[in-house]
Amino acid sequence: MASLTYTPARQAELVENLREVQQHVKDTWQSAPQATRNPIEPRLVAVSKLKPASDILALYDAGHRHFGENYIQELTDKVTQLPRDITWHFIGTLQSNKAKTLVDGVGGEGLVVETLGSVKTAKLLEKAMEKRPEAGKLKVFIQVNTSKEENKSGVDPLPATTNDASEPTPSTADHELVKLTTYILQSTHLHLQGLMTIGALSSSTSAVPNPDFTTLHSTRHALHSFLVSEQGNALLGDGGTSLLPDKEEQWELSMGMSSDYEQAIKQGSASVRVGTKIFGERPRKVDVGGTTK
Ligand SMILES: *Cc1c(COP(=O)(O)O)cnc(C)c1O
Repeated sequence: MASLTYTPARQAELVENLREVQQHVKDTWQSAPQATRNPIEPRLVAVSKLKPASDILALYDAGHRHFGENYIQELTDKVTQLPRDITWHFIGTLQSNKAKTLVDGVGGEGLVVETLGSVKTAKLLEKAMEKRPEAGKLKVFIQVNTSKEENKSGVDPLPATTNDASEPTPSTADHELVKLTTYILQSTHLHLQGLMTIGALSSSTSAVPNPDFTTLHSTRHALHSFLVSEQGNALLGDGGTSLLPDKEEQWELSMGMSSDYEQAIKQGSASVRVGTKIFGERPRKVDVGGTTK
């Protein structure tokens, strides 16, 4: 850990970028309509993929703690070089056969998995966490493929409910998002922190409101209302208390990147993931199954 160094000039540049984005997050959130914005100021996750560990340390030393990474090997290497009290947001493609490697590499505590997309992977995360009782619950976001692009991971969104009184259709119970949410809520070692989307590149630069962010927001609403209506069946924990949060906003929305985080905040984001605007352009990664764009 002691061997990492950065120049004062690089630190000054990174800290200035971070402060600028942080200030813009705050200003955007403060002036956003209360009806759609997140109840509390959004978190800024600094996406450090393909950037050196010394860049992360420079921001850590300036007080920043939330970083985002896409590649398990790179993340694991960085974990061994950097302080223990960093919260690592895994935002890359997560194949089920890598779930254990990810948990073992980061340690469970201090890991947030933002790209959970199947019950199969959830079960493997649960199993990997069983061996780490000291770590507490693993925080997970369910990735929703709001743009329904072939090349994007995530479960399908739920159709927006037109009004709250509408009867849930029988097929809603069979929806992958509903099954995955139910699994997480009933699990012992996973905590559902919210829903995450990447969205279409084209919408991120042009559309207002952004249709992907609208879809993630309405999916959360449809999911929560459906499960509230189902509660009698399966979602009661020990002592009969509900496993569901009282308010749907307790499930965060993770949405917004360098090009569209302002719009995401206006539409309810609780956690923005910003890389380029903080660290500068990334080198290209040529890898198998990566999500570099
Ligand atoms: C790389 C990445 C980001 C950050 O993208 P920038 O455009 O550099 O801000 C955010 N989210 C995900 C899922 C990413 O893969």
